[in-house]
Amino acid sequence: MRTPTGTRTKIVIDCKILNISCMSTQLKKTAFISGGAKGIGLAVAKAFIAEGINACIVDVDRASGEAIQSIFCKEELLFIEADVSKADDVQKAVNQCAAHFGRVDFLVNNAGIQRYSNAMNCTEEEWDLVMGTNLKSYFLCTKYCLPLILEGGGGCIVNVASVQSFVATANAVHYVTAKTALLGFTRSVAVDFAPSVRCVAVCPGTVYTPMVVDSWAQAADPSLIEQESINMHLVKRVAQPAEIADLVVYLCSPKATFITGQSFRIDGGIGVGIPGSVKEEQKKKENGVNGMLKVKSKK
Ligand code: NAD
Repeated sequence: MRTPTGTRTKIVIDCKILNISCMSTQLKKTAFISGGAKGIGLAVAKAFIAEGINACIVDVDRASGEAIQSIFCKEELLFIEADVSKADDVQKAVNQCAAHFGRVDFLVNNAGIQRYSNAMNCTEEEWDLVMGTNLKSYFLCTKYCLPLILEGGGGCIVNVASVQSFVATANAVHYVTAKTALLGFTRSVAVDFAPSVRCVAVCPGTVYTPMVVDSWAQAADPSLIEQESINMHLVKRVAQPAEIADLVVYLCSPKATFITGQSFRIDGGIGVGIPGSVKEEQKKKENGVNGMLKVKSKK
């Protein structure tokens, strides 16, 4: 903002004054979200906060985490820097979250990385890295959050898996293996901790996040890959992170208390049909069908 003399001045908004809900931290339910500084995890954090639920985002990306922290007051969002593939980091993060918010009701296991290799050229280091982040971290966060969730009277654990829990893309042997294993992990946790704790998995198709944008950028022709990704989905677009967040928040809500142990594909129809012939696709275009279904991806 410019002052009457024309010089720039920074306005510091004290959200504790503006936001009444910031005062009632200890009464509000709390969600622990791994990998919450960007992409789907960040959208989940924002969706929880919109529902009056505190969000604790745990991420290795300090710059992104601190940027988010500067927007939200610490009474509704807490960023903790931690590598969730490491037991010590997770234990400390859960303790810090409990000390700050007093409780954990929901856990969203979401941290993930994407690497590209097959069973022959994948190195042991890359296998361990992907498994550590995309599978072991889900176990570690569950292990250390469960006592708090049980102490608070129960809650819900949502594992962000993938459409690749059901179908495999090329050159993603570790990613596909980890995402598939998460379906078994989800059932196992649901069985062991029912009825107090529900455990579900959400399995997105392509979502417009930094992970996907980075992976498109690595291609020789990024716009071609983006168009191919869009075309893979029956709805002819990729998802926005908020669409996945809405499902996560619904599954944690009182409206979903009869749901546990299940996996939910939210994938724009990937793999539902067998791709039609070029002639059939052309006919659809002529009939204006593609045009009717197309919803332009917001970026
Ligand atoms: P993203 O890269 O945009 O965000 C992931 C976040 O996880 C980042 O902030 C990153 O710093 C964090 N992270 C990575 N390793 C970590 C670690 N060891 N400890 C703590 N934080 C760590 O990715 P995204 O697309 O939002 O993906 C979120 C989840 O959704 C992942 O599990 C991913 O596999 C899954 N998923 C994504 C898509 C998609 O198309 N974007 C599709 C299906 C499933």
